[in-house]
Amino acid sequence: ATERKAVFLFFGGTGDLAYRKLYPSLFNLYRKGNLRSHFAVIGTSRAKMDDDKFRAAIKKSLADSGNRTDSKEASDFVSHFYYQDHDVTDTAHYAVLKDLMDKLDKKYKAEGHRIFYLSMAPQFFGTIAQDLKTQGLLSEGNDVFNRLVIEKPFGRDYDSARLLNDALSKSFDEDQIFRIDHYLGKEMIQNIEALRFGNTLVESLWNNRYIDNIQVTLSEKLGVEERASYYDNSGALRDMVQNHIMQIVSLLAMEQPVAFTDTDIRAEKVKALRSLRVYNVADAATNFVRGQYGSINEQADYRHEDNVPHDSTTETFVAGKLLFDNYRWSGTPFYIRTGKMLADKFTRVDVVFKRPLVDIFAFPQSQNTPLAANVLTIFVEPHAGFSLQLNAKTNDTGFSTEPIKLDYLVDAQKSKDTPEPYERLLHDVLKGDGTNFSSWPEVSYAWKFVDQIRRVWDLQEPQFPNYTPHSMGPAAAEELIQRDHREWVYRL
Ligand code: NAD
Repeated sequence: ATERKAVFLFFGGTGDLAYRKLYPSLFNLYRKGNLRSHFAVIGTSRAKMDDDKFRAAIKKSLADSGNRTDSKEASDFVSHFYYQDHDVTDTAHYAVLKDLMDKLDKKYKAEGHRIFYLSMAPQFFGTIAQDLKTQGLLSEGNDVFNRLVIEKPFGRDYDSARLLNDALSKSFDEDQIFRIDHYLGKEMIQNIEALRFGNTLVESLWNNRYIDNIQVTLSEKLGVEERASYYDNSGALRDMVQNHIMQIVSLLAMEQPVAFTDTDIRAEKVKALRSLRVYNVADAATNFVRGQYGSINEQADYRHEDNVPHDSTTETFVAGKLLFDNYRWSGTPFYIRTGKMLADKFTRVDVVFKRPLVDIFAFPQSQNTPLAANVLTIFVEPHAGFSLQLNAKTNDTGFSTEPIKLDYLVDAQKSKDTPEPYERLLHDVLKGDGTNFSSWPEVSYAWKFVDQIRRVWDLQEPQFPNYTPHSMGPAAAEELIQRDHREWVYRL
């Protein structure tokens, strides 16, 4: 592995995400040699603690994610960690962070490379970025890098996202900003590109002549849990559709990039999003449905969750139909759905091919059922793999056909060895590869699309709750697709 050099500064360094995902991911990079001697990590938050206590907390975070921490390797790793309490709204205090960064840069010979990771409430992103620049924390020189990593959410509509982006871009150029969408770090999401552009069999059929529709499902089994106060202000449309689903859809819909580079891939994703039809009021109302879970059993009733108002109109489920107005996709809809408290936890993409134009097996005297559609399923999680449904002959004396499946499931060992999204994404940040991050144009087109749905929803009070816990959402989500004489491939 190539060793990368950098001083990291984590804002929100004592937060849930940092302990649960970010530090264990750095440890994996350390074990693989991507980080070795020339790096240091500074954690900051308002809490007071010394380096030793912070290092103990890091060890605990490694242990909690299944690592042994009695090794020399773990001790060496945590010796690179430093803690500095800091209130992000205290501009004068950034000088303390600057001195510490400069000192650690020298000590570990990090060559001036800096990564600023904002893992905290988004209302602080703009201020932090500004203070980093004005208080002199960005290092200077021709060969150094300064990179800003931003957690979600990136705004709550187009206007707020644009304000945030304007604030960030006063201090950082677009190629220095890494907007996290952790779905882009998932193995099987990255595999969409391999599957499409590495296989004649797939890409030559990847268009409206052969594909009838594409379905993307991000299904969660749990309710809001402890994120309720955040979630109730956001809802499924903002929390899942604007970012994760739009990113997955753009990878599925884009044209072939000139080369496998971040610049080329982003250009194609943006082109795809530009041809996504932004709905007028009437179409937004018919092509999107929302839901909220609830039942007489208050244990599984969104409005009775902790920190949720009893009259909340926040949606915990969305289903929708997306249409691209371009030569490749005109007439082939993309159906999407996501929600909480559904039947199961999984993410999958189902690509439904058109049936053969003529079914020669279904002549009047035959007893044959009509041919099933070919379906290519990409299983993203919990199990990674592909499945291809084909028609084959049944093994009897007559002649009838039945659907069979070619399955490829990533085996347990390989799954275990697959890097976690955050490990991959942190590695990409160290390399300066923006492929698996959301660029500003992508974010802005996604918001413009989603805002239009929100606008229509905000005009009318929803009839909530409207779906039973552990179902696959409200009846309207079935009607949405049945109206087009289709059905969800994954059904209960
Ligand atoms: P958290 O509430 O657990 O942590 C927030 C951190 O910010 C804490 O370290 C806190 O001390 C610090 N902080 C708050 N106010 C501060 C101030 N004025 N000055 C300095 N520090 C301050 O949050 P989290 O769950 O770790 O989430 C962090 C970010 O990651 C958020 O943007 C969130 O939306 C995003 N995110 C989190 C998860 C997750 O699984 N936790 C998943 C996806 C995205």
